[in-house]
Parts: sequence; C-alpha cells; structure tokens
Amino acid sequence: MGWLLTQGWLDQLQRWLPSFLLPGSLQPARATIPEALWSATLAQLPFLDFLNDDERRRLKALSEALLDKKPLAGVGGFEVDDATAALIAAQACVLVLNLDLSLYDDMSAILVHPDVFSVKQQHMDEAGVLHEWDEELAGEALDQGGAVLLSWQDLMQPQAPGLPFNLVIHEFAHKIDMGRGAANGFPPFLEGLHVRAELAAWPEAFTAAYADFCARVDQLEQSLPSDFDPEREAHAALYQAEAADLPLDPYAAHDPAEFFAVASETFYVAPAALAEGYPPIYRLLAAYYRQDPLAAAKAATAAPQRHWQHSATEHR
Ligand SMILES: [Zn+2]
Repeated sequence: MGWLLTQGWLDQLQRWLPSFLLPGSLQPARATIPEALWSATLAQLPFLDFLNDDERRRLKALSEALLDKKPLAGVGGFEVDDATAALIAAQACVLVLNLDLSLYDDMSAILVHPDVFSVKQQHMDEAGVLHEWDEELAGEALDQGGAVLLSWQDLMQPQAPGLPFNLVIHEFAHKIDMGRGAANGFPPFLEGLHVRAELAAWPEAFTAAYADFCARVDQLEQSLPSDFDPEREAHAALYQAEAADLPLDPYAAHDPAEFFAVASETFYVAPAALAEGYPPIYRLLAAYYRQDPLAAAKAATAAPQRHWQHSATEHR
C-alpha cells in the first residue's frame, strides 16, 4: 500500500488488468486444501510453528474459506497453482485467525504477478506541485475495495534470512488497516473480540515508536558515506549490516501505515526482535491479533514432547 496511491493509479490499474488477466485464470472455489499440500505449506512457513494443533486446523479451515470467497488470479502471464494459493491463504489468514475473515470483505481479489512490477506513483507536494515517478513494487494493497497484488518471486521467500520480511503478511495487514478507510496505522477494533482497555494505548504508543524509529533510520542514513550509492555492492552490504541492528526493516519509517504493516510482519517472523526493540508495540499487536507468538513458542519449546517442532523458531 502506498499513501501516495492516487485515484489515477486505481483507474490505470482497472484499465491495465483485463489485458493481463489470462482467460479463465480466475480460480474456481477450492473447498478443500489436501492434507499433503497443507503440510507442505506449513513446512515452508516455520514462523507458524508457534501454532498449536487446534490453531493449525482452524487456520486450514479459514484458508479454505478465504480461497472460496475471493478470486485468485495470475496477472502478467502468471498462472497460480494450488501450492501458491495455499501459501498465500495460510499467511493471510494467520492475521485473522483469532479475529474475523470479514476484515477482508473490502478486498476484491488476490492477484499474483510473476515478479516485481512497476507502477506509476503520484504525489502532490505542499506547494501544489504534482510529482510522478515509476516505482518497483513487490506488493500493493489497493484501497477502496481494491485487490491485493503480490509478486510471486517475493512471496516465495516468506522467511528470508537477514531482515525480517514477509510480503503476504505486509499487504494483508494493510488491508486490515483499510477497514476504517485509507490505511493509516490505526486498524479497526472489533466489538466483542477486542478489549478496548488493552488497546487504549495504541495512538500514543504507535506515534512514539514511529517517531523513535524514524530518528534511528535518520541516524543510520547520516552515518553512511557521503557518496553512498545503494547500487554499489559494498554500500548495499554496509547498509544491510547497519539496518540489521534495527528492530524493524527501515521501510517502516516511510509512514505510519507502513510502520504498522512492517511491525505486523516482524510480530510473526521475528517476534523476539520486536518485543525487545519496541515492547509496547509487541504487546499491542499481541492484543490486536489476539496471539502471542513469542510466549507460545517459548511454552512449546519448554514442553519436551513438542520440542522437535520448534527447532526452527530461533531465526534471528
Ligand atoms: Zn506497504
């Protein structure tokens, strides 16, 4: 999602889609993900090891419900196979496992592009000057009832080494955030599911953490050589090494909506880093998603009979 997204881009996308959509590529509803495919899917997502057996069963049922409800299609010549569909659904649904699938009601479809895609972005600055540029994106969550677009190459790395990164969780967190309109880092609280008192600190805590994180990213950028060029291998490695000390991917400093989406990715993929770097944000996301990956992983690791399942959870 980009706060820079404009209606112009949305119109452009609507014109752009039909030529990319392959005839018949809208998948028919899949009522059932076969057990073997489900096991293979979870094996690709070791960060979900914290889920217990009951939660895994519910996640499967929810994934099937999502695939039943939402069109899933390849664009740009891509054909979505069952493995990709299950991989997307499992990650999209872990966010709403203890909430409600209706948080995705606003999403019209899930579209998969073979790799990164270039989109025209526009931004009107304070002086009223319109800036336009092309931006390469791995994913995009379109607001106003729009689709989620994902790059297949990027979604196939759900748990890449290095910086915590998870494209599917990122884009679907934006969709949840859009439950109250344009994404702004303040997702809707659900009556009967969320305890308002537990979430009362949200505005203050997120505003403070975002400001602190932006200051840390500024500091990092000021420490870079004056001739810094991200295209140069040595410079890119330097940036990567410096950024590895941050609790979140520097992209979180883009705006409060990105901060929420990146914090959500990190909550699942590298929960210890988030809990250590921004304890109030970890606690608020645990209250929001009604899950506690860190505590669940610790408890399960402490239980010897389940130890084998959690050998992969120490990924940072
Ligand atoms: Zn984003």
